[in-house]
Amino acid sequence: MTKIEATNVIKTFEVRNNGKKGNNKTEAFTALGGVNLNVEDGEFLVILGPSGCCKSTFLDILAGLSEPDSGTVTIDGNPITGPGLDRGVVFQQYALLPWRTALSNITFVLEAKHIEKDLQDENAKKYLSLVGLSGFEDRYPHELSGGMKQRVAIARALAIDPEVLLMDEPFAAVDAQTREILQTDLLNITYGAQKTVVFITHSIDEAVFLADRVAVMTARPGVIKEIVEVPIPREKRFTEDIKFTPEFVEIRHKLWELLKGEVVKSQETCSKCTVEECNFGDKNEVKEVSK
Ligand code: ADP
Repeated sequence: MTKIEATNVIKTFEVRNNGKKGNNKTEAFTALGGVNLNVEDGEFLVILGPSGCCKSTFLDILAGLSEPDSGTVTIDGNPITGPGLDRGVVFQQYALLPWRTALSNITFVLEAKHIEKDLQDENAKKYLSLVGLSGFEDRYPHELSGGMKQRVAIARALAIDPEVLLMDEPFAAVDAQTREILQTDLLNITYGAQKTVVFITHSIDEAVFLADRVAVMTARPGVIKEIVEVPIPREKRFTEDIKFTPEFVEIRHKLWELLKGEVVKSQETCSKCTVEECNFGDKNEVKEVSK
């Protein structure tokens, strides 16, 4: 059954043009050029694309944090009109409240769900335990490692018991070893809880390891170029080091073949870019060009 359906989603931004100081004229910047995508109920779908192809822009629309200029996005057939408790969002930056403990960063969102005070602590402890953080309830964010902070952010997103988890490069800021552990833990949790997940990354290995299907995005303006199935059984991902299996390597290769032209296009667009506020690719490179 289809859980999320995006039909011809177009998004443009107005940005100041040509990078010259004092020139405040704006020009339209097409971020999404007509995204069509279906996500099935209980599916783990990864969106893979070059940096700056507007993956986050699309996820923001799914989260209800931004609206498309045209096109529709629905969950269970209902149009998304804003943020909702049916969707838990995890960002690249942990976005924890620094003055609250791990536990109270989670009870904070449970207040929004109008859950009774006694049950808030109980639930928050349950989700901290699920992400392996029992015993860390009273720690403040600055007392936790990057990986632990991201675990709290995941626990917080799960604690509202959303049907859909939207994850925007959630492991980009943690070290490589922690990232591998978090990937396996995330699969365990989301399979167990039967969540529908939309996960953004620009890491091909991460995409193949996590996904049931990978949607490859083009360079900006972003559209879905192709969807690639990952028919590696879910159980096998826990029991074997699948990254060295022929099927993993084959899918990895296929994705890179689809992606590399888009990465080159992204860099070419970047080198021609004169938009002052554009973060696409390397900012320094953009500054060089717009001098
Ligand atoms: P990705 O997640 O694929 O790296 P993003 O969706 O974060 O890409 O951003 C893609 C491009 O859209 C960037 O060049 C960024 O500058 C631009 N962009 C994103 N949000 C805005 C905005 N609110 N106003 C203007 N430009 C934006």
